[in-house]
Amino acid sequence: SKEIVDKWVKGTCRFCGTGCGVYVGVKDGKVVAIKGNPEAKTNFGFLCVKGFLAYKCMYHPDRLKYPMIRQKDGKFKRVSWDEALDYVAKKFKYFHKKYGKDSVAYYGSGQCTTEESYTFNKLWKGGFRSNMVEGNPRLCMASAVGGYITTFGSDEPVGSYADIENAKCIFLVGSNTSECHPIIFRRIMRHKLRNPDVKIIVCEPRKTNTAKIADLWLPVDPGTDLAVFHSMAREIIKNNWHDKKFIDAHTRITDGKNVYSFDKYVEFVEQFKPEVVEKLTRCPAENIRKAAKWFATSGATMTLWTMGLNQRTRGVWANNLIHNLHLITGNICKPGADSFSLTGQPNACGGVRETGSLCHLLPGTKPVKDKKWRTHVEKVWGLKPGTIDPKPGFHTMKMFDSLGGENDPNKPIKAMLTSTTNPAQSLPNLNRYIKGMKDAFLVVLDIFPTKTTQLADVVLPAAFLYEKGGVYGCSERRSQLTEKAVNPPGEAKPDIWIAAQIAKRMGFEKLIPWNMDDSMKANEMAWTDYITVTKDSDHSLWGATYDRLKKEKAGIQWPCPYPGHPGTYKRYVRGMDPMFEHEEFKRFFGKKIPDDAKIYFYMDKKGEGRANIWLRPYKGPAEVPDAEYPFYLTTGRVIAHWHTGTMTMRIPEIARSYPYAYIEIHPDDARKYNIFEGDLVEVISRRGKAILPARITKNSLPGVLFVPWFDQEISRMINFVCNDAVDPGSKEPEFKIAAVKIRKY
Ligand code: SF4
Repeated sequence: SKEIVDKWVKGTCRFCGTGCGVYVGVKDGKVVAIKGNPEAKTNFGFLCVKGFLAYKCMYHPDRLKYPMIRQKDGKFKRVSWDEALDYVAKKFKYFHKKYGKDSVAYYGSGQCTTEESYTFNKLWKGGFRSNMVEGNPRLCMASAVGGYITTFGSDEPVGSYADIENAKCIFLVGSNTSECHPIIFRRIMRHKLRNPDVKIIVCEPRKTNTAKIADLWLPVDPGTDLAVFHSMAREIIKNNWHDKKFIDAHTRITDGKNVYSFDKYVEFVEQFKPEVVEKLTRCPAENIRKAAKWFATSGATMTLWTMGLNQRTRGVWANNLIHNLHLITGNICKPGADSFSLTGQPNACGGVRETGSLCHLLPGTKPVKDKKWRTHVEKVWGLKPGTIDPKPGFHTMKMFDSLGGENDPNKPIKAMLTSTTNPAQSLPNLNRYIKGMKDAFLVVLDIFPTKTTQLADVVLPAAFLYEKGGVYGCSERRSQLTEKAVNPPGEAKPDIWIAAQIAKRMGFEKLIPWNMDDSMKANEMAWTDYITVTKDSDHSLWGATYDRLKKEKAGIQWPCPYPGHPGTYKRYVRGMDPMFEHEEFKRFFGKKIPDDAKIYFYMDKKGEGRANIWLRPYKGPAEVPDAEYPFYLTTGRVIAHWHTGTMTMRIPEIARSYPYAYIEIHPDDARKYNIFEGDLVEVISRRGKAILPARITKNSLPGVLFVPWFDQEISRMINFVCNDAVDPGSKEPEFKIAAVKIRKY
């Protein structure tokens, strides 16, 4: 390797939430190769095709290299950075003055670095005094956040990836792990190959490649799996496989209003007899019984899930019900037993959830409504008491619904800055939101032209991860630092520099003092600021200084509250979780952890150290098939592509292997409509339509269609068809489920 590169620079993969460690190979100032980091605890040196080939898009001729402002004739004109930034600041000031502090919104991404998300969040909430801050993790992880907080009192998993190798049973729910988290899937496969007795159960509407290797597949109609989870709980209790001691010591049964006895829970789940649930879900009763047995009696069961559980109108409830299964069987807080949400994006956890870059949160994933925390943040940020608005801003869908031009009195948000995301392709029910983006004053930071830059007034060329460096925090609470490897092309700049320049022009230089050209220096200042604010919280990364992150080969898992602390594999367990001994944390949050408590859910809002087992009634999706729209449509990713294809479609090998999206149709349905492989099929919902070539496969159940969402061709963009109904708790939209009809085109 010495011959082909000048140096290898440590980093993380730019794509999914697995957080694979990489080394970036640099030759003559350019990235020419990427290899896996064998010491990384996430991937042990392995990478999937996206990770290996990521660098190839960095040198695509489409890279945005210069700031541009749209002119009166609708065309973009190249301008200097000063001109672009002065213009943005002037417009923002104008809107603030004329329409109030909440008329300018920020919409970020789980692909921005932690330092970038933190900086924009601080500028908006501390500088502009506005909570109009959102990010695309609202579209993918908000239900998981809601599930963790309502069950355990604190966001993010109890355990770690290392539980995979200790599990005796692995339950994959709503996750096509083999394609969406390929390196996690590899770990699962390796574990299974070495330990053939390990059971793998997959619950999914499609027989994906993940389901194909499973010992047991629980097929379900989209959005009906809540009944399956309750039914498994019923079977577990009926057969006395539950852990009564754990339930009594560490949980409470609740519906959110009252606390109930365990008998009440037994009575509640009684309605979910497997045969009844089979009729509702299409999951065979026999499979439910077998899954319940394996789950409860394995000795160590780990559940992993992604968007199939989250992108729903009952996403929080679905998350709660998975946690229920772990709590009633005591499959938590011990090696191999965990209820683990796989994050979609590389830095949804670290960047957006942990820095509180959502409209209702502050750094440390604490609500803006929490006066004590607000006062603390104001103090550390050097703000006058009362500066931060206690009222949450608008969640993503409401934010885009409220975005519009000056001549529309019904649209209170007049301007938006978006970074590292492509809402004009990724929002559900796109027809409803495009006009708002077009009419408002839209500033877009990105590395490539996208559907969103097409609607922008100002386009600011951004740096790729390896051109700026920064920290990403993956699914397992692990923060890993990427060093800057090369310079960005043309005049492209890191987001953190852009944020600091806007802050300076708007009079907030003191708040964001990291206004410098050296991106690693700016990153370090932002990171230090962030870990100072969250120093004594349950999310503490105080021991993870920038210097240390630079040296660590595998990053650090929070909580890491002291210099030298090794990071935390498992939370809520004495001897593993440092918060049991962290006096400042206990003092600040008023936590009393009994001396003899071995397991204690210390973020329990009632102060009893218990997790909640939820009585959640069954509720189906917002839309179910009917006579007019007789099919379920579900959507997802494919192994080769990342999100809207902005980057991966510019990697030649990947573009060739997956050039366009398609619609999966069961052969029985294809026959009814006289559709053959490759025929164009129009798929239509109450909101919009798309036209895609047919792929006839038994992967999906009859009556269930599947379309991947990476394709940028307007006629194949499936998000015109998707439903934008949101979960009432998490406000996450129901991307995964829509009622549609089809016709041969
Ligand atoms: Fe990157 Fe995810 Fe692939 Fe790992 S599994 S190389 S993080 S895309």
